Parts: sequence; structure tokens; C-alpha cells
Amino acid sequence: MSARAGIVVTGTEVLTGQISDRNGPWIATQLLDLGVDVAHITVCGDRPDDLRSALRFLADEGVDLIVTSGGLGPTADDLTVATVADFCGIGVDHDQQVEDQIRDIVREWSIRRGNDPDRESVRAAIRKQAMVPRGATVVSPAGTAPGVVVPAGSDHPVVMVLPGPPRELQAMWPAAVDAQPAVEAIRGRIELETETIRMFGTAESELAETLRDAESTVSRFGDLEITTCLRVSELEMVTRFPADAMDAYRAVAGLVVERHGDTVYSTDGSTVDDQVAALLAGHRIATAESCTGGMIAARLTDRAGSSAYVMGGVVSYDNSAKTGLLDVPAAMIAEHGAVSEEVASAMATGALSRLGADIAVSTTGVAGPGGGTPEKPVGTVCFGLARSGGSVITRRLVLAGTRADVRERSVTVAMHMLRSALSD
Ligand code: ATP
Ligand code: MG
Repeated sequence: MSARAGIVVTGTEVLTGQISDRNGPWIATQLLDLGVDVAHITVCGDRPDDLRSALRFLADEGVDLIVTSGGLGPTADDLTVATVADFCGIGVDHDQQVEDQIRDIVREWSIRRGNDPDRESVRAAIRKQAMVPRGATVVSPAGTAPGVVVPAGSDHPVVMVLPGPPRELQAMWPAAVDAQPAVEAIRGRIELETETIRMFGTAESELAETLRDAESTVSRFGDLEITTCLRVSELEMVTRFPADAMDAYRAVAGLVVERHGDTVYSTDGSTVDDQVAALLAGHRIATAESCTGGMIAARLTDRAGSSAYVMGGVVSYDNSAKTGLLDVPAAMIAEHGAVSEEVASAMATGALSRLGADIAVSTTGVAGPGGGTPEKPVGTVCFGLARSGGSVITRRLVLAGTRADVRERSVTVAMHMLRSALSD
């Protein structure tokens, strides 16, 4: 059995939804990569009693490792180290070496900002952050707050205490997992393989049916931990398994491809963006966007080297912009409406010639409330894809969800139109 861990994310700002948690998922991914099973992620505010309850719960669950994030700062509400030490029944000692290290960092910051580094308030804050639970390993700070890794005791597992700011936490992670108590906690790990299949156009219920069939026909199906997840109109199936269950995975993957072959576009972990980027090598692409407001261009340019194939894009909301910048005939807009396959086609063709591209993609739609009509309800989006040589493909879809959903789904649809056009 592999080692199990629990994660406690602290911070009233996370608990109340002011900011969304970036540490829990990140730590979970790292632990999974290390072969450690994550049993729970809990979130609590900055109250010591609530943190203590979360620690108690995870300890009672019998996890081998607890990782906490947040509450290591110099202020009075930063109580994680003291609370963890108390929970583990150990005292905290002042660590001069740690204090010197923090002081050097703070001194540099203070001088740069023109503050006095020797103010009493600063010294008190530094002293507070230099209190280390007895027997714990110190993880050097990436900001000013050091982390600690407390060894297991008779009634508690190893506790790894890390700061809240994601950049600091992530920078300190390698040293934290190398600390002796952490190494001991995750000793029971087994390396797990992870494989991902991505689909566009299969419903989650259809995949579930295929997996139910696989369960009764594939031997060692039980060794596969399969997670299916809907992600902006795409369906993702992630499978984790011990290396010796590879045959079982291959059998399941084979069945999925056999049943849903036309919608399976990736079995090697690549995303549609990866594939489109690779397929665009040697091409020049342009975009003409209305309801997606430049989001397709943003996706296309979100990787190194994209300037080699992305010519640029036009965001055209008003009819005058469609006419003036993309040569969409005003009469066509008057006849068919701005949200129409005709206009989508003309936008793509216009972008193609105006930007000197050999492939262009366009969107025009009704993303948000207020703009819908019985013929064109909210969520109606028309897409155009033009290639040099004159061929144009158009699509018209009615996408569900909020404005943000419709926009995001539209981008995914456009990426898949590009992928399939380019791979023909
Ligand atoms: P500091 O020294 O900055 O006070 P800290 O270790 O005490 O560090 P917190 O006070 O809990 O950490 O959080 C500081 C800031 O870090 C938060 O205001 C927030 O911007 C960011 N942060 C903390 N936890 C998270 C989280 N789980 N996800 C995303 N951001 C976070
Ligand atoms: Mg803080």
C-alpha cells in the first residue's frame, strides 16, 4: 500500500472565497507524482481551534503525512507553527540560525524600501518566525517565513508546515520533501503510472457505460484508478496504476478508443492546444473574433514560438468594425444578421486576406443575456474557418451556460475545428 497524505489549507481568505485555493491542488499533484495517495484536502480559517480539529481528523484517519499551507507570517493571526507544535505535544525553541537568516532577508528588503530594519516591531516579528518546534527540520524560506517538518509521534503523523503564498510554497517544496521526516513518511510509496485520454464529443455517461463493460471483461481492472472529468466541453479520463497493471490499462484504453474512436483525439497526454500548435508549423493563422473577444488569439499565442505562425487577430464587435476591418459586406450583415454563418464565413475570409494568413478562424455569437431572440437564443455561436484557396467551413451551435461558459466553450470548439481541418 502506498503512503497516504492529508492536506490542510489554512486562511480565512480562502475559506470565505475571497481567493481561490491554489495550494491544495498543487500539493496534491506533487504528492501524486511522488506516488503518495492524497486522502483529503481540508480548508480552515485562521483560528487555531479549527486548525487543531483538521489535524485531529487527519491524524485519526491514519495518514502518514499532513501538509499545511499558510499562517507562517509575522503577524498575530499567523499561528500555524505554534498550533502544530501544540497539537504534536512538543515545545517550540528559538533558533538563532533561523533568526539570523530571516534578519538578513528582512534587512535587505527594509533597506531597499527605506525602512529601519532594526525597529522593535520588526525584531519581534523576526523572533516569532524563528520559533521552531523541537526536533523539527527547518525548510529555508523563499520569502521570509521558514517552513518546518515535524517528525511523527505516537499519536500524530509527520506534519509538513509550509507558507501560504503559492510562489514561496512551491519554491520550498523540493527541500521540504527531502527533509528526513518527510522521506520517512513517504517511504511506502510506489511509483504510479499516469495516462490521460482526451475526448471531444463523447458524453460522460457514454464513457461510464464503456468503463462498466471494461470492469467485467478486463482482468485487474480493480488496480486502475480511473477519474473522468468534464472540462469545457471536453471529456478527460485520467488513469493511475502500478506499472505492472499496464496490460489492464492498455485493454481499457483499447476499448475506449474502439467505442469512442471518432471523438478520442489524444491518448498521449497532449491537449488540443498542443496539437494545434504542432499542426500549425509552416502555416500562418489569423483570427476574427466577436463573442470570444480575443480569447482564441490568446490561446493560440500562449506558448513559445507562436509568433512564427500567429499573424494576428481582429476583435470586431460593432458591425462597422466587421465591415471596416474585415470587409464583411454591410448588406450581408443587414440580410443575415451579425450572428450568422454567412457573417462568420466572411469574417474568416476577411481575416485571411487582411492578415496574409493561409488559415483563419472566426466567431460571432450571442454569449450573454439580453441579446437573444427566438431564432438566435443566448448561446448561439457561429464559427467560420477559411483556408487559402477559397474553402470555408462554418458551424452554428447553441452552447449552454453563463457568458463565461459560452465564451470558453466557443474557444474549445474553434480549437477543435482547427485541429480537424489541419489534420485532414
Ligand atoms: P505571509 O508571510 O505572507 O503572511 P503566510 O504563510 O502567513 O504568509 P497566509 O497569511 O496564509 O500565508 O497567506 C498570505 C497570502 O498568500 C494570502 O493573502 C494569499 O494571497 C496567498 N495565499 C495563501 N494561501 C493561499 C492559497 N491556498 N491559495 C492561493 N493563495 C494563497
Ligand atoms: Mg499571513
